[in-house]
Amino acid sequence: MSDLLIRNIGTIVSGAIDQPLASGDAIVVRDGKISYVGADPESTADGIEKVVDAVGATVIPGLCDNHVHPVVGDYTPRQRQVDFIDSCLHGGVTTMISAGEPHTPGRPTDPMGVKALSIFAHKSFAKLRPSGVKVHAGAVMLEEGLTEADFEEMAAAGIRLVAEIGISGVKDPEVAATMTRWAQARGMKVMVHTGGASIPGSGVIGADFVVAVQPDVAGHTNGGPTALPLADVERILEETSARVELVHNGNVKAAAEVARLVSGRGELGRLVIGTDSPAGSGVQPLGILRVMSWIASLAEIAPEEVVAMATGNVADLHGLATGVIEVGREADLLIVDAPQGSQATDALRALAIGDTLAVASAIIDGIPRFEKSRNTPPPSRSIKIPPSLVAS
Ligand SMILES: [Zn+2]
Repeated sequence: MSDLLIRNIGTIVSGAIDQPLASGDAIVVRDGKISYVGADPESTADGIEKVVDAVGATVIPGLCDNHVHPVVGDYTPRQRQVDFIDSCLHGGVTTMISAGEPHTPGRPTDPMGVKALSIFAHKSFAKLRPSGVKVHAGAVMLEEGLTEADFEEMAAAGIRLVAEIGISGVKDPEVAATMTRWAQARGMKVMVHTGGASIPGSGVIGADFVVAVQPDVAGHTNGGPTALPLADVERILEETSARVELVHNGNVKAAAEVARLVSGRGELGRLVIGTDSPAGSGVQPLGILRVMSWIASLAEIAPEEVVAMATGNVADLHGLATGVIEVGREADLLIVDAPQGSQATDALRALAIGDTLAVASAIIDGIPRFEKSRNTPPPSRSIKIPPSLVAS
């Protein structure tokens, strides 16, 4: 935990969809939490030795990827790749939400086995934060035979997520709906896979299934990777209260169409962004940044509102104390800018023209995690993170 002052901020994007811009040019962090947002403070920053000069760049909340498929530690057997979480941190991701751990080699499919796997994944990532990234894992994959007592036991063990329904054994909407009620009664958030099949064993799922199950999230409504018809997304919006998710591992055209549809309904608070990676399409360290630029540029939605879809909207869905720049929240922050060579002069304008943002620094609990991103283009502005401030 750390104290930090960030000053000379050009624009503060709050991450809150109702009020996406915050006024001021400084943020103070005390004990890893945001303690002040506003005009450059004299007294509120007393005693703080760690100072970052943002040189007029933009600060947004750390990105929350609503759809990842981790397994254990910073390794994905799906693409036989190590350090993918660290790579995503260099793309601005500070929080990850598991949509299930289906890539676990030899994944058990009996009730006892899936229960054990989700509790193991949850407790393992609760103890281990690869590169500081907050990974919320242990999303139980539904299999026939799970009982209400099993959900009670999992909830007591800390399980808060049900993996996207449709990629595991439960295919019957009635069984899925019954288990969803058991899960939601215990505070778990439930996702349903939508659209075409992803990998062998997953199914094709449309609006009928989602309406029958009434989940908390309709996963990858632009496809994972194959999109369902837009009319189905409209029915999901109309006949459920689920959040609708847009992912990198999907159909780009459909992402813009869904975003436009949700925007037209005045329901931008229901949109959440994820990568759906690791997957067959690989690992996309800049995936969230790229989906943000697709939505801002192709659906022509205000970039600061798009930032909220990848930060505050996800935190709100899962009840997390990150994702919004306001006093009391965990100080998970990004200093971002237009990339060098961009036709835009700042981060928000860069998103609006479809460029991928430059991440100058990712800060978790008030501690900068690197001096410069190894994965994004460099920022237009010369932002120097003192090496002494960076987590070792
Ligand atoms: Zn899926």
